[in-house]
Amino acid sequence: MATQNEPRIARDGGQQSPWQINLNGISAPAGVAAGIVYDALVVGGGITGFTAAIGLAKAGKKVVLAEAHSVGFGTTGGTSAHINTFADTTYAQVDQPELFADAVTEGAGLIKTYIDEFKIDCDYETRVGYLYAETDKEAKQLDDIYEGAIKAGVAVEYVSEVPTPVDYTKALLWPVQAQFQPLKYLLGLEKAFLSLEGVVLENTLVSGVNTPSGIHIAETNQGPVSAKAIIYATHLPPNINVFNFECAPYRSYVMAVKLKSGKYPEALIYDSQEPYHFVRTHVIDGQELLLVGGLDHKTGHEDPEKAFADLEKYIRKYYNVSSVKYRWSSQYYVPVDGLPYIGQMPLAAEGIYCATGYNGNGMMLGSIAGKTLSDLISGRESKYEKLFSPARIKPVDSFTELVKENADVAYHFVADRFGIKNSDSLKRLQPGTGKVVEVDGEKIAAYRDEAGKLHALSPVCTHAACIVKWNASEKSWDCPCHGARYDIAGKVLTGPATKDLFKMDADES
Ligand SMILES: Cc1cc2nc3c(=O)[nH]c(=O)nc-3n(C[C@H](O)[C@H](O)[C@H](O)COP(=O)(O)OP(=O)(O)OC[C@H]3O[C@@H](n4cnc5c(N)ncnc54)[C@H](O)[C@@H]3O)c2cc1C
Repeated sequence: MATQNEPRIARDGGQQSPWQINLNGISAPAGVAAGIVYDALVVGGGITGFTAAIGLAKAGKKVVLAEAHSVGFGTTGGTSAHINTFADTTYAQVDQPELFADAVTEGAGLIKTYIDEFKIDCDYETRVGYLYAETDKEAKQLDDIYEGAIKAGVAVEYVSEVPTPVDYTKALLWPVQAQFQPLKYLLGLEKAFLSLEGVVLENTLVSGVNTPSGIHIAETNQGPVSAKAIIYATHLPPNINVFNFECAPYRSYVMAVKLKSGKYPEALIYDSQEPYHFVRTHVIDGQELLLVGGLDHKTGHEDPEKAFADLEKYIRKYYNVSSVKYRWSSQYYVPVDGLPYIGQMPLAAEGIYCATGYNGNGMMLGSIAGKTLSDLISGRESKYEKLFSPARIKPVDSFTELVKENADVAYHFVADRFGIKNSDSLKRLQPGTGKVVEVDGEKIAAYRDEAGKLHALSPVCTHAACIVKWNASEKSWDCPCHGARYDIAGKVLTGPATKDLFKMDADES
């Protein structure tokens, strides 16, 4: 076991998000004493994991949280941190709009409750939200959104004024939305969790769980961890599982820019384009900045550099930009039926829970997931249990067998290839670039670093054997099938993979 965690805030990509600036991680003493059986193991140190961990610790449970990297490494460190009373899945689109609205609103409220309860200084500010339409089709969608929200009991009204330079035809106003600094909030939750005698294990990747006799034993790179209940708060549960077919991974882009005018809108503003754009203001490191984002697309299906270029073009079209201070991207998961999956993990032993499929609304839905799961494990009822139950997925029999065998195909598929010879395609690779190239009929994920050194990997994703794609913006290898991501050394950045890409020796002579 590691003895001490280094204080640091890292992220799952090459770009820095502004939330990481001037923040150090907490040096929590690490290590699990052999023989301890925790009441609960929470896997994943993002907003879902810490909200669940706090709920359990407050209920008097003995809780350990295991994070593969460092706290805030995942999407919580790359979010745009809007807190809304509406969601990507509109209230008009769901069967139980009031209940879904309650979940979103309660999730938003829980963040404020914990900020007050634990005195977390995290730039929390309430804002008005605007959603506008630019075309007739979008205006019709806006009407549907309005009617759905009214039916669900969510406050919304039509307005004629929106603080945007974009020409719009119709607009909605959502009162009492909010924004915050997500990593300051997360570190506040971590501090509170530690004060409730919770244990945080960083650099602890959970690769699987066995349940030989009622107690779950998690396999980790730091040794086994035993617990009566396990929560996969990993954004997407690891390894082959039903969510690989129920949740599609998407990349989303954000830029923080300084404006020549010095005038920044004090509102959360969204258009209705497909993919959409948002605009909001945040003071980062003492500077007021305009955050503009969106342009979401399926992971590995479009060029991230083009997405950033398009986003910058969009910003410069409407705003007089003096400089671009930050640009970063991150990943979220779109659930096939629009609702998140929160509850007992399908095809897993009883007492193994999961929370995934939040769309772009994980601040509220991750918070309510953490609350729901900690309630269920603590023996309390949750009114959201049925609405969000993953049991609504009905896997086919053949897939059930595959999951039971834990489908380790990919790893064995490549394990017998060690070295590659130099070739023209490798020689042509410029410093700082990566590409999947063919050498002697074999595909290689090749990256040449700035110093000219070649890093060669098998491009076969260790999750389900798809071929990864180079993400030049984040300097990562991204899988277009289920969203697993790896760094240039092949190390897993983002699940569902739990095994690194296979390294190859490149003969450059
Ligand atoms: C660009 C962008 C903007 C967004 N903006 C908003 C917004 O404005 N408002 C909103 O509500 N939502 C937003 N979202 C969505 C929201 O950020 C996410 O849904 C939320 O952060 C997910 O939190 P999480 O804790 O579930 O996952 P994460 O924050 O990803 O945390 C999961 C953690 O689990 C760890 N992990 C994974 N696998 C393992 C393993 N096997 N063992 C141990 N640890 C593991 C990871 O390292 C990671 O740190 C946005 C998403 C994106 C991509």
